[in-house]
Amino acid sequence: MNEQKDRKDRVVIVSGPSGVGKSTICKEVVKRLNNAYLSVSVTTRPRTEGEVDGEDYWFISEEQFRQRIDQGALLEYAEVFGHLYGTPKEKVDEALAAGKTTILEIDVQGAKQAKMIYPDAVMIFILPPSAKVLAERMKLRGRENAEMAEERLDWADDEIAVAWQYYKNMVINEDLEQAVKEVVQIIQGPQTQ
Ligand code: 5GP
Repeated sequence: MNEQKDRKDRVVIVSGPSGVGKSTICKEVVKRLNNAYLSVSVTTRPRTEGEVDGEDYWFISEEQFRQRIDQGALLEYAEVFGHLYGTPKEKVDEALAAGKTTILEIDVQGAKQAKMIYPDAVMIFILPPSAKVLAERMKLRGRENAEMAEERLDWADDEIAVAWQYYKNMVINEDLEQAVKEVVQIIQGPQTQ
């Protein structure tokens, strides 16, 4: 535990291309911080094998998602690869009120919205060591069919290009342990964005 060094009530935004290992990194980071909350998004994307409702995402219908938008229940939301993804506002508010470091693992479009709400949010972008490695990881994960994987890889190039402008902190996930340590250091470090 890194008790003394943990910052209170701050928002951390983590983004990165599909297949880069963001979720694995975030889950590990939240365990290592003393008082942190990893936001669970709502999505209309179908649940894939191994994913747990309420843990990886809250899997909801498009109608339910639209209701949440209308109710103002989402902090931010975006359409990514043909599905809707959003951050439940109430949970984030609760975590921040409880003094927790709150991690949002969201895409670049959502990150821009969240940054407007939390200008001091720490912005972290996870990069693959190379485009080739990203393609291999995606294949290995086997979640998407070839066409969907191709679409996600194409999008990764654009996302990375945008990321250089918006994200102060870039972390290369070559070695998982190293990447986790770097993210923890950034969160605990003196810099703010
Ligand atoms: P996946 O389908 O691979 O789980 O997620 C696809 C993309 O949606 C990833 O880039 C992920 O970071 C992003 N994402 C997940 N949750 C949210 C969210 O609540 N809001 C936004 N804007 N993007 C999200």
